Amino acid sequence: MTAHTQIAVIGGGLVGKAAAVASARAGFKTVHIAPAAPEDRRTSALMQPSVDYMRAAGLLDDPDASGVPLRRIRIIDATERMLRAPETMFDARETGVDAFGWNFANTELNARFAASGDALADLSTRQASLSTASRDGALWSLELDDGTRLTADLVVGADGKKSRVRELAGIGVREKVYRQSALVCDLDLGRALDGESVEFHYPNGPFTLVPAGGTKANLVWIDLPDTLEAARADIETLKRALLDKSQHLFGALNPLSASFIFPLSSLSVERAGKDGAVLVGEAAHAFPPIGAQGLNLGLRDVANLDRCLSAANPAAWGWADGVARSYAAGRKDDLTRTGLFVDGLFTSLLSPHLPAQALRTAGLWSLNAIPALRRRAMAFGLGQ
Ligand SMILES: Cc1cc2nc3c(=O)[nH]c(=O)nc-3n(C[C@H](O)[C@H](O)[C@H](O)COP(=O)(O)OP(=O)(O)OC[C@H]3O[C@@H](n4cnc5c(N)ncnc54)[C@H](O)[C@@H]3O)c2cc1C
Repeated sequence: MTAHTQIAVIGGGLVGKAAAVASARAGFKTVHIAPAAPEDRRTSALMQPSVDYMRAAGLLDDPDASGVPLRRIRIIDATERMLRAPETMFDARETGVDAFGWNFANTELNARFAASGDALADLSTRQASLSTASRDGALWSLELDDGTRLTADLVVGADGKKSRVRELAGIGVREKVYRQSALVCDLDLGRALDGESVEFHYPNGPFTLVPAGGTKANLVWIDLPDTLEAARADIETLKRALLDKSQHLFGALNPLSASFIFPLSSLSVERAGKDGAVLVGEAAHAFPPIGAQGLNLGLRDVANLDRCLSAANPAAWGWADGVARSYAAGRKDDLTRTGLFVDGLFTSLLSPHLPAQALRTAGLWSLNAIPALRRRAMAFGLGQ
């Protein structure tokens, strides 16, 4: 006999784990379909609202125990263009808090989210991939690549940029592939960042050092793939490139880990849910890693799903359709404005055109000069 579950969450990344925990904690029998995946060696800057949600949802206890506080963000225009922006500093204290958020290792978050899931009786996990699915009436029939079949009322697609759930649910997607990639690695610096994230804005993308405690930092360097590959040809070449890119401000930058390169694209969907299926995380939205928005937005998806599930009546026929409808309506504005914000920020930085450069420079001048505007921009960055 085919097993039945109320909710099937597809995808074992951080957003999938968080969604599976939220579904089971909301009282729904949940199966998490999560194939084995390579270790995620990135780090995530998660803002205060995301941390508040993780704590309320039982995903994290004390952020200071596992993350490093982000107190300031410094932007340095390193473009050498005719219209250059002034150096701009955002200080969390201006918004009345001590830190914008915390920088966490994804390995740490993955371990904590998995431990939260292990403690829930209504949650079971299958280490498999979704092969195919179809919907008959109000029920999804799923087939996994290990031959398992199951039915579910609600399917949660947390299966990343190439989402199979999105395709099977017939949800339209727009994708833009950038010429740039991002190189990440862990570094030891000549001097501590002391809670300050430093972004050097170069014409091909930012070079960002995120504090990781003491003299440690996590690097996110966005540039053309050939440049990144050439820079990591050998350790001495990489060290010279890092010193140069950081404008010698932090002494020698010594890599503490291997480097990983991620191709960059942005992605948006026509709607985030329909017909008993919802999309969360990169299945619904993706953009370049600037302004630390991706996982923060993914956790806001999960928080919204959580609210929709709490309001649902699982005894009513077709309840999952109602959840998909209210979830899609609830996510529409946030997904649109965050996507426009990150894409606009990235495009204006890369643009070779003078009007776009002038606009960006004027924007940073205004942020520097007008504290109220700066506070509004910081609140927006926090997702408020
Ligand atoms: C370099 C870099 C730095 C970043 N830094 C930050 C940051 O500081 N702050 C921030 O907020 N965001 C950041 N992001 C964005 C953030 O990492 C992503 O938004 C987040 O990891 C997306 O998680 P996800 O679970 O949605 O997707 P993924 O992590 O891609 O997980 C999708 C999962 O689905 C699985 N899957 C795929 N197909 C199937 C299938 N058919 N069946 C079952 N499972 C399937 C995959 O195996 C995978 O495990 C960064 C991104 C990059 C590239």
